[in-house]
Amino acid sequence: MASGSNSLMWFRKGLRLHDNPALEYAAKGSKFLYPVFVIDPHYMEPDPTAFSPGSSKSGLNRIQFLLESLVDLDLSLKKLGSRLLVLKGDPGEVLIRCLKEWSIGNLCFEYDTEPYYQALDVKVKNHASVAGVEIFSPVSHTLYNPADIINKNGGSPPLTYQSFLKLAGQPSWASTPLATTISSLPPIGNTGNFAVSGVPTVKELGYEDLNEDEWTPFKGGESEALKRLRESIANKEWVANFEKPKGDPSAFMKPATTVLSPYLKFGCLSSRYFYQCIQDIQKSVKKHTSPPVSLLGQLLWRDFFYTVSFGTPNFDQMKGNRICKQIPWKNDDELLAAWRDSRTGFPWIDAIMAQLRKCGWMHHLARHSVACFLTRGDLFVHWEKGRDVFDRLLIDSDWAINNGNWLWLSCSSFFYQYHRIYSPTSFGKKYDPAGNYIRHFLPVLKDMPKEYIYEPWTAPLSVQRKARCIIGLDYPNPVVSHDSASKECRMRLGEAYELNKKLNGRVSEEDLNKLR
Ligand code: FAD
Repeated sequence: MASGSNSLMWFRKGLRLHDNPALEYAAKGSKFLYPVFVIDPHYMEPDPTAFSPGSSKSGLNRIQFLLESLVDLDLSLKKLGSRLLVLKGDPGEVLIRCLKEWSIGNLCFEYDTEPYYQALDVKVKNHASVAGVEIFSPVSHTLYNPADIINKNGGSPPLTYQSFLKLAGQPSWASTPLATTISSLPPIGNTGNFAVSGVPTVKELGYEDLNEDEWTPFKGGESEALKRLRESIANKEWVANFEKPKGDPSAFMKPATTVLSPYLKFGCLSSRYFYQCIQDIQKSVKKHTSPPVSLLGQLLWRDFFYTVSFGTPNFDQMKGNRICKQIPWKNDDELLAAWRDSRTGFPWIDAIMAQLRKCGWMHHLARHSVACFLTRGDLFVHWEKGRDVFDRLLIDSDWAINNGNWLWLSCSSFFYQYHRIYSPTSFGKKYDPAGNYIRHFLPVLKDMPKEYIYEPWTAPLSVQRKARCIIGLDYPNPVVSHDSASKECRMRLGEAYELNKKLNGRVSEEDLNKLR
């Protein structure tokens, strides 16, 4: 970097000071440093037509989580003699104006593989190169650079976890110190005519504020992320013996996994730092689990999906996606709404969706249950529709991981054993026979005896009356019979797989219509 020039640190994800190579670089030798976050109205402003409070792109819980993360980042920057400059508008246009008005010589931001950022970055980079602005855009959101793995594999992404592991190997940085902790930052220069503000509240963005107990219990920010990480790994035995998919999906007071996903999503926590912490623990114990089931293995799943998504055109849709089986899914908006709004009549499914709306987070196996139920298990609704609901309501919603897992759960890619279906009645019972999870998230069923809590429609009317929950009135009857619906799903998947095989994946809409 030309010493003494002005730098702009553009925060998008990577909302942290620790292990932040872009920030570290921007801080070195700059005369003035402008730390910027741009509020894109498209992502943040209320959309009254959406099915839940929030913008057209995100539910309110995630917007609040992001604002909390920005407040925390601003506080940390202030401790180093700087602060976060919040601007509003189309991010590309705002950035280009900033570069010009603040005479920026050096633009730093974390590399992002998501299509939205790829398109945005081309626009900004083109402008910067014409204007002679130097760009520093390191890969620091993931453990590996997805492009490196794809290159190693001859230009296409590895499609299995094992082949990904083989190609990836041990990351070169794994046993070296990460970016240094920043102890001070250059001052902010004159901001001129820009409407620079502090971090807005949800109310200032035009939303109604909620009571404390109505928000997700998970608070955003780097400080919270590091605290949660410390607590999660304090018990070395727990880390060493971590084994997914073991673990109770119905544990909601003390979840069975780390709940670090929302912090990784926004980069409040560095995945590399998380990796090193787990690695240190593994070195200090006699025995530990290994990928794919270990905690380290979970982080590698994250990188696996980032790599495949980066190298697969149209990864987020069925059409034109070469790794996705073409299946004649139904576009049934009524069934979709029943699933989304906890009205399927299957308490295990409805409770999970209630947890999603309330907390924006559910255990991995709970996600498995509802994704399977919506698609190949019972309702045969298109996975893209379920993906959209998750994308809106999850606080950890992540383009690569969400799409990757919906492809997986719907047996559209990666996993093809469509005969193995999660039961919406007996799966949850294995973990929580008394139905405490259901009682918590569906209070209408709180007095239903445990014999009937997973299948309340089988309770005699006298029992329903006593529980003050009449099925069909206070809580719905099941939208489908699981036995016949799952049988039909298997049959349809079988036919679709045959067709994909026969036509070598080149299945047209017309071919699919013949199966509908
Ligand atoms: P832990 O078990 O503590 O794992 C640590 C970290 O590893 C996670 O925070 C996450 O970053 C990563 N990880 C764990 N499981 C997976 C996985 N299967 N794939 C990729 N990375 C993983 N996770 C998201 O972060 N964002 C999503 O949008 C998302 N959508 C999903 C949709 C469906 C249909 C399914 C079945 C799973 C989805 N997951 C998603 C993956 C997984 O359920 C969550 O990452 C995990 O439950 C988060 O909880 P945790 O942080 O306690 O996980």
